[in-house]
Amino acid sequence: MPNEKRDVFFFGNGKAQGNAKMRDLLGGKGAGLHEMTRIGIPVPPGFTISTAVCAYYDSHGHRYPKKLEKEVPQSLGQMEKILGRRFGDGGDPLLVSVRSGARESMPGMMDTVLNLGLNDRTVQGLIRRTGNPRFAFDSYRRFIHMYADVVLGIKATSTNGGDPLAEIFERKKNARRARSDTDLEAADLQELVGEYKDAVKKATGKDFPEDPFDQLWGAVGAVFGSWNNDRAVAYRELYQIPHDWGTAVNVQAMVFGNLGDDCATGVAFTRDPATGEKRFYGEFLVNAQGEDVVAGSRTPRPIADLFEAMPEAANELHRVCKLLEKHYREMQDIEFTIEGGKLWMLQTRAAKRTGFAAVRVAVDMVEEHIIGKKEALLRIEPDQLNQLLRPVFDEKGKERAHREGRLLAKGLPAGPGAATGRVVFDAEKAVEWKKRGERVILCRIETSPDDIRGMDAAQGILTARGGMTSHAALVARQMGKVCVAGCEALHVDYTERVLRVNGSELTEGDWISIDGSTGQVFQGEIQTLPSEVLRVLLTESLAPKESRIFQQFARLMSWADEVRRLGVRTNADQPDQAAIAKAFGSEGIGLCRTEHMFFQGDRIQAVREMILADDETGRRRALAKLLPMQKQDFKGILEIMGSLPVTIRTLDPPLHEFLPKHDEEIVELAKVMGVAVDVLRDKVNVLQEFNPMLGHRGCRLGISFPEITEMQAQAIFEAACELKREGKNPFPEVMIPLVGSRPELHEQKAIVERVASATQKAYGVKVRYAIGTMIELPRACMVADEIAEEAEFFSFGTNDLTQTCLGLSRDDAGKFLPSYVLNGILPEDPFVSIDRDGVGALMRIAIAKGRKVRKKLEIGICGEHGGDPKSVGYCHELGLDYVSCSPYRVAIARLAAAQAALRNKPT
Ligand code: ADP
Ligand code: MG
Ligand code: MG
Repeated sequence: MPNEKRDVFFFGNGKAQGNAKMRDLLGGKGAGLHEMTRIGIPVPPGFTISTAVCAYYDSHGHRYPKKLEKEVPQSLGQMEKILGRRFGDGGDPLLVSVRSGARESMPGMMDTVLNLGLNDRTVQGLIRRTGNPRFAFDSYRRFIHMYADVVLGIKATSTNGGDPLAEIFERKKNARRARSDTDLEAADLQELVGEYKDAVKKATGKDFPEDPFDQLWGAVGAVFGSWNNDRAVAYRELYQIPHDWGTAVNVQAMVFGNLGDDCATGVAFTRDPATGEKRFYGEFLVNAQGEDVVAGSRTPRPIADLFEAMPEAANELHRVCKLLEKHYREMQDIEFTIEGGKLWMLQTRAAKRTGFAAVRVAVDMVEEHIIGKKEALLRIEPDQLNQLLRPVFDEKGKERAHREGRLLAKGLPAGPGAATGRVVFDAEKAVEWKKRGERVILCRIETSPDDIRGMDAAQGILTARGGMTSHAALVARQMGKVCVAGCEALHVDYTERVLRVNGSELTEGDWISIDGSTGQVFQGEIQTLPSEVLRVLLTESLAPKESRIFQQFARLMSWADEVRRLGVRTNADQPDQAAIAKAFGSEGIGLCRTEHMFFQGDRIQAVREMILADDETGRRRALAKLLPMQKQDFKGILEIMGSLPVTIRTLDPPLHEFLPKHDEEIVELAKVMGVAVDVLRDKVNVLQEFNPMLGHRGCRLGISFPEITEMQAQAIFEAACELKREGKNPFPEVMIPLVGSRPELHEQKAIVERVASATQKAYGVKVRYAIGTMIELPRACMVADEIAEEAEFFSFGTNDLTQTCLGLSRDDAGKFLPSYVLNGILPEDPFVSIDRDGVGALMRIAIAKGRKVRKKLEIGICGEHGGDPKSVGYCHELGLDYVSCSPYRVAIARLAAAQAALRNKPT
């Protein structure tokens, strides 16, 4: 870190040393505080210690850069000057919050300490200044509690149970028969301070730190340390946030929402984060501090009430929110506190939103002339489009549930969509049950950051407490999960493992259904229906004009198509899949796996006959049975795709995959086929391979048994010729798999061409077609120029190319690959996102060599990566012609391709 660079950035009184663009250094929260200060919004003064210090702290045995020891007190001095109060002053103390804040927000993952600077002396100053001992001791007990948790590590653990300080608090509430926190009186709170300190001494063997500077450095270190706590690490893995970014620390003067009934704290959104509707949206609590809203310990009130309770502050809040949305040209999520009727802003950031809201806000903002189409396209995570395709409850099923009295309760509609599953009460169970194939609904009193893996595993999340901005709601929105939050009629008993609600009881494993669009909770299972988008596009049971979601989705897609360069095709083996893909805008089939058709109905019979045949004659006899079936399939797909290209791959998997493995099955099959058990068993044994992935498969089969390729080519061209005769214009592309050398392709191509011309001649028509190859072996990449002499197109089979490039069997990688990713040995799972350094390098070679020989060589990708937005971006950079993905990912790929085009040529 160069010396002249600043570690600490001050903001306050309308001036700030940082701004919105400095997220990397100041973190998102810091950058927002600086920017708001700059544009004249009321923000309590403070300073930000940069993320660079976090990196230093991590790599220097938890020590700070030397100059920080000077810069921190200096900045505190500036705050003191503005506020006319001194840190640690027994007369009128300055209190601060110490807040974490990384580049990307990680809600609730890291720690914050409020009311820092309080001790037995300064608390008296606070009482004198405010004349409110209840408030002063309330702040003090909150401070000790947070500090004990965050800095001293005294918290709930899975081994010794609950948070000891929270237990002391509950005991006090019970002793005083207090229903809410606010029922405790000053004397109770003062007692709590003493009891907390005793508990701290007991747990740590040391007194609670009295010196405010000790407190401050302790808190700063803890916030930096919290970057590496388990839940923050888990969160970063889930969202692929780099571990080396680090967090910033914000030290900020406290404002108090807990000073009385003209005080409040809350959060607000400039639009509805669940639906995207343009309406001011928020929640607040009177006489509370910030943590209370998110923690779900009290269920907050809707912002509309604030306009009644404190109209002036509410109007000011509304004005500031509008200003912020205009300034950032983006939907904002803000935190505020009202002290004595005056509004203070404590945070602003681009709001996390559901997929529905993302699409609606982006399209609305274009219509409102706030952003352009390109910006709109860039604002949506391609994967979020999945949510628009997610099922909803069938209205009839819901009516029946109503009639049968299965509506249990209603909570807040925090994450749209429908989810049915079995009740589980903890995150661990959710993960476990999901693993064994169960659908589960995670039911909690409230969720905490420790639950994210379980939330990820569940179909939906149901909580008894907390609002639309509670942890559960926040995370569900981000994950795109169905969520009903704050369903207060629900009584969840973790020890008895039951959920009681309005007279009904559900135990673990019982079925429950939640509607995240209405907040309804039903007992039992309810049928689901396709989403609106699917009903318009696929079943055509909904008119486009009746669905706003569909219209906005369609507009967005049309904008994507205007800018993208990459084509988008689909992987489909059957006519119905092809139809789905076409409805989603697929521009062809990039991979039709012929062997998938072999498993349908009794076809497998003929396939097995072919495999068991002793000689060519026998094989041909069996193949003749398969021919009409394959032809019918090809005809169906070619017909649906019209004149779009349909890439059909010749037989790829090793033949043993079509035979049974276990002896009982072999005996049974032998009976059905009328062959001797021994003969069949021998054949199975002969076909057994040590390493089938690298064995007798792909074009190697067609080379050993040319009649297989011949039959497949015949099926393809007969289908095409028939369509041609019917006046259609089919376009098959025959793709030979697992080619590693030119002669392999040469031989197979010769067969296909011979069949093609014979068939066309027989039918008296000409069809457009092409013959090419899959590139899925490193050798194929290295000799791509030779292969391109034969091939009219390449299609990267990145599943196999990844296996062969990394020498990594996908089916066996589960044992170690996760830990490789966890430990940073591999940056991410290469089967999810293309390994650019290895596989990508091979692809570059193949592209360059191929196009050198054949300038117009068409190149695509048909591995699973074709539907991964990041890999789609990479394919754009590589100059591919198209990506091919599964039918339901076509829209995602179209958007990802548009984003890649926009990012790669800045306007
Ligand atoms: P998180 O990232 O978990 O939201 P924050 O740092 O934003 O953590 O703080 C947690 C809560 O404390 C928020 O509600 C915030 O508004 C409140 N808070 C933070 N700093 C202050 C402050 N200086 N005065 C009053 N409330 C604060
Ligand atoms: Mg916050
Ligand atoms: Mg392959």
